[in-house]
Amino acid sequence: TGGEGSLGEAKTQMRDPIRSIVIVGGGTAGWMAATFLARRLAHLRLSITVVESSAIGTIGVGEATVPAIRDFFAAIDLGEADVLRETEATIKYGIRFADWKARGHDFFHPFGLYGVGAHGVAFHHYWLKLRAAGDTTPLGTYCLATQLAERGLFLPPVDRPANDLGVFNFAVHFDASKFAALLKRLALANKVAHIDARITDVARHGEDGRVTAVTLDSGARVEGDLWIDCSGFRSLLLGDALDVPFVDWRHWLPCDRAVAIPCTAAQVHRPFTTATATEAGWRWHIPLRHRVGNGHVYCSDFIDDADAEDGLLAALEGEALAEPNRIRFTAGHRARFWERNVIGLGLSSGFLEPLESTSITLIQSGLERLIPLFPDRACDPRLAATYNNQSVLEFERIRDFLMLHYSGNQRIGEPFWDHVRAIPPTDGLRAKLDAWRAAGEFVRREWDTFQDASWLSMYAGFDDLPARYSPLADHVADADLRDSLTRMRAAIDGTLAHAEPHAAFLARVHAGV
Ligand code: FAD
Repeated sequence: TGGEGSLGEAKTQMRDPIRSIVIVGGGTAGWMAATFLARRLAHLRLSITVVESSAIGTIGVGEATVPAIRDFFAAIDLGEADVLRETEATIKYGIRFADWKARGHDFFHPFGLYGVGAHGVAFHHYWLKLRAAGDTTPLGTYCLATQLAERGLFLPPVDRPANDLGVFNFAVHFDASKFAALLKRLALANKVAHIDARITDVARHGEDGRVTAVTLDSGARVEGDLWIDCSGFRSLLLGDALDVPFVDWRHWLPCDRAVAIPCTAAQVHRPFTTATATEAGWRWHIPLRHRVGNGHVYCSDFIDDADAEDGLLAALEGEALAEPNRIRFTAGHRARFWERNVIGLGLSSGFLEPLESTSITLIQSGLERLIPLFPDRACDPRLAATYNNQSVLEFERIRDFLMLHYSGNQRIGEPFWDHVRAIPPTDGLRAKLDAWRAAGEFVRREWDTFQDASWLSMYAGFDDLPARYSPLADHVADADLRDSLTRMRAAIDGTLAHAEPHAAFLARVHAGV
C-alpha cells in the first residue's frame, strides 16, 4: 500500500518544484553555494541568483582549509593547479601547535595516518608499548604527512597506498578574496545571475512565514522559492527575518575576538598552518605565496584589544600589508540551520573559532547534505529536521575536538589557560577521554569531521597517554617490534626521497609545468 501511496504523493509534489534559488551574500559561502548548486542542479530548470553588497564587503579572512576541500574542487570541476595558481595558494599537510601544552613545546596534527598496525591491534598501541620500555621516538616519526611538513616537501597522495604508512592527504591555504573571485567567475559562466545591491527588507508569506522576496536599496525586489542565507555574521534571513535563536557556546569556547593582519611573505613557504598559543588565545600563521595571513584569536575577558593587537604585530615575520581587521564573534550556532525555505551556510549559521580551519568545510558539507534532501516548494519540515539534526551533530563534534585543544594545556598559573583547563568537558568529550585514558581506544561518532588519527595527534601532543597499551600488543616481542618500526621509518624515508621541495613544486605549478 505504502508503495502506491508514496508514488502518488511524489507525483503531486513534483508539480511544485523549486524554480528559483536566491543566495544572499557573496563571500566564500555564497560563491561556494552558487558554484556547487549550479553544477549539481544543472539538469533542473531553475534559476540561481546571488545578491551581495560590495559596499558591505566580506569578512576578509578564512584562508586555511582541510583536505575535503579537494573534493569540493572536483565537485565543481575546478582544476587543482588552477586553484593553486589563481589564489596564490600553498600546500597544507596539517597544523603545527606551538606552546599549547607549555611554552617551548610543540606538536603536529597531520592530515595522515601513523604507522601500520598488526594482528588487529592499532599502531599506536605498539608505539605506546615501546614508549613504556623507554623509547622516546615521537609518534610523528611514523607519519608521512608530518615528515613532509617538517622537511618542507611536497608529494601528492597516491590512490591506493600499499598500507597505512602511505595514507595522507593535503589541503591548501588560499587567498580568500581570490578564491571567491575564482568561484564567482565559474558561477557566472554557469549561468548564475549576480546582483550587487544592499538588501534593505525581507518579505515573508502572511500565512506560512516563508521568505518570499527581498527589497534592494535600488527599490527593486528579488523573489525566490528557496533561500540560501550566506550573509555572514549578520544572518539576515535566518537570524533577523526568521528570528532563529543563537545557541551560545561561549562557556565551552570562550574566545570571542580576533584581529587579522597580513604581512609580506618570507622566501620559505611552510606546507602547514601554525597555531601558536598566546597569553589569552592563539595566533595563526597561514603562508600564502604572495603574503602571510596572520591573526590573533583571543578572549576579551583576559586581554584587551590593544594588547592583543600589539602581540600580533610583534610576532609578524614580515612587513604589515594592511590595517588590522578587527572581528568579534561568539562560538555557537543557530538553533536551526534550515528554517522554512531558508538554509543558512557559513557564518550566518554559526561559528567555531578557526583553530582547525573548519568553517569552509562546514559550508561544503552543508551543501553536500542539502542535495539528497533537496525540497520542493512545500519544503517538508521533515527535510529541515533531518538536515538540522546532522548539522548540529557536526558542530558538536568539532566543538568537542576544539575543546580538547584547550583542556590539555599545562600552562599553570596563566589565568586564561587555568580557566580553559577547568572547563568541564561535554558528555561527548568525556566519553572520548574516558575510552582513551582507560584503554587507548577511540569512540567513533557519526558526523565526526576528525577521525582517530586527529584525536591521537592531540592526545600524544599533550602527552595525555592512556593508563595502558592494549595487552594484545604483547604478542609481539620487543626486538621484533623495534625491527618493524625501523622498517617503517626506512619506508617513510624511501618515499620522501621521491618528494620535491614545496617551493619548487609551487614554482612549477605557477610556471604551468
Ligand atoms: P562573509 O564573508 O561575511 O560574507 C557575507 C556576505 O553577505 C557578503 O558578500 C556581504 O556583502 C553580504 N551581505 C551582508 N549583508 C548584506 C545585505 N544587507 N545586502 C546584501 N548583501 C549582504 N574558515 C576556514 O575554513 N578557515 C580559516 O582559516 C578561517 N579563519 C577564520 C578566521 C576568523 C577570525 C574568522 C572570523 C573566520 C574564519 N573562518 C575560517 C571562517 C571563514 O572566514 C568563513 O566561513 C568564510 O569566509 C565564509 O564567510 P561567509 O561567506 O559566511 O560570510
